[in-house]
Amino acid sequence: MRLLEGAKGEIARDLPWIKHSDPWAIYVSEVMLQQTQVSRVVEPWANFMKQFPTPSALAHAPLAEVLVAWQGLGFARRARFLHEAAAVMVRDFGARVPQSLAELRSLPGIGEYSAASIASFAYGEPVIVLDTNVARILSRAIAGRTLSLSDLREVAGYFGELGESAVVNQSLLDFGAKFCRARPDCESCPARTSCAWKKVGGEDPAPNSAKVSKPQSPFQGSRRQLRGQILKALHHGPLLERAVLKNVTDPRTSEVLVELITEGMVQKHGRSVRLAGDKR
Ligand code: SF4
Repeated sequence: MRLLEGAKGEIARDLPWIKHSDPWAIYVSEVMLQQTQVSRVVEPWANFMKQFPTPSALAHAPLAEVLVAWQGLGFARRARFLHEAAAVMVRDFGARVPQSLAELRSLPGIGEYSAASIASFAYGEPVIVLDTNVARILSRAIAGRTLSLSDLREVAGYFGELGESAVVNQSLLDFGAKFCRARPDCESCPARTSCAWKKVGGEDPAPNSAKVSKPQSPFQGSRRQLRGQILKALHHGPLLERAVLKNVTDPRTSEVLVELITEGMVQKHGRSVRLAGDKR
């Protein structure tokens, strides 16, 4: 099928984790890609893998070190989940990334999408990864209509039967990233002559299909930006709480700091605050 020819080079993206057969390298990339654009993940992923090349290396590092290494990726809660997941791998899975969907789902921060992705890319398990890009492709190119979750799973089942799930999934993801984006590039698309939506016409069926996410709210002025600013202020060591409140000038700073303390990412000692596990 034209859509899948990308795997042979026409549309395949050259991403460092794709060449990896190490399940841990794939696991880390999948967690980073959950909420961060591919282009912003490439360099932090390479640095992170140098610093924490195995689940064991990560599990034995203080959370503070992991939060500093996470800098620039945003949504730092994922760093905490990754740290916790590494500890579970060491404790329950022989310091390895587990293989089955059920075991992967049992790890902190791993939902249906990430579990399918890791199982397919790391172990070749026969599952199709249903993310927003793939859902767009299936609703437009294959069905030509808006798809409910059960419709989507049924259409995805067709791809699941093709075998080589990692190749199929990567091709779909690459195709979605290059052509069938939120604003599709139909002019350059190699599947335009067979695309179901192009044949039937009408409104774009993707936006209301299951699994197609709505655009994220702007980062500027957001709560996640503020969380990142507070964590960054603590990267060089503990600070007096009042210094944080003075330096990060946002009326929500106090409440967001409490949130980070409650989540276990920041610790309070007397009047000072520090990244969790920071021994300085
Ligand atoms: S022709 Fe347009 S809508 Fe159809 S698969 Fe290609 S990019 Fe997507």
